[in-house]
Amino acid sequence: MAGERTIGEVGKVPQGRLMGRSGAVTLSGGPAQQIRILVVEDEPTVRAALRTVLGGSGFEVTEAATGAEATAVNDAGQVDVVLLDLVLPDTDGVSLLVRLRKARNVPVVVLSGRRPLADKLRALDAGADDYVMKPFHTAELLARIRAVLRRSKAAPEGPGLVTVGDVEIDLTKRVVRRNGEMLRLTPTELRLLLELVSNPGMLLTHSELLKRVWGETYGTESHYLRVYIAQLRRKLGDSATRPRMIRTEPGLGYRWMERSG
Ligand code: CA
Repeated sequence: MAGERTIGEVGKVPQGRLMGRSGAVTLSGGPAQQIRILVVEDEPTVRAALRTVLGGSGFEVTEAATGAEATAVNDAGQVDVVLLDLVLPDTDGVSLLVRLRKARNVPVVVLSGRRPLADKLRALDAGADDYVMKPFHTAELLARIRAVLRRSKAAPEGPGLVTVGDVEIDLTKRVVRRNGEMLRLTPTELRLLLELVSNPGMLLTHSELLKRVWGETYGTESHYLRVYIAQLRRKLGDSATRPRMIRTEPGLGYRWMERSG
């Protein structure tokens, strides 16, 4: 693609024309605040390239070279989304991810070099909202960051309260309680749950769910769904073998069970 850059290639300093667009990135059409992104990356060349691309695309960029710096910025609450490199000098990236998510319910996109699928699943399991492999194209990175931001803000239509056993899902307030206690769901888990609950009894195919929750460019990443559905079931106290809420339709997708006892 003309004007597109690749960042993070080993031994290669990124160069080429920026594809950034002018104007600040905001979540709504209104005069909203600029989106603040925290870039956690210890390699200065990659960090500089990310600052240029993201800054040029209207984000307000804060940089952290270590886990300690990232924690400090995140705890201060000055972040809307985190871009996190998994290999850092002072901490394991997945532990840092867990720490960041525990402190604040901020969406996190993980950035990493060539690593086995198990690592990717480990990051998703720890609460990452998406995963970008190095080297990556700036267009893909920007699309994924925007999709994560959309997911963390947008809610499907349909007011109401859904109760299954000890679980109560408030579709309007986007709050889930179990035994009266608020469940801590990540933005992606919540989006996925609301998508299912808003379509009771309907089969939602893997591809439909991926497109609706992760974005239009998704459709084949059914391992994302396996990880997130497993997390949701664990948090909701649902079971894959004897489901009360989410039923697996093998090879097809998932279904929110219409009515249970
Ligand atoms: Ca690194």
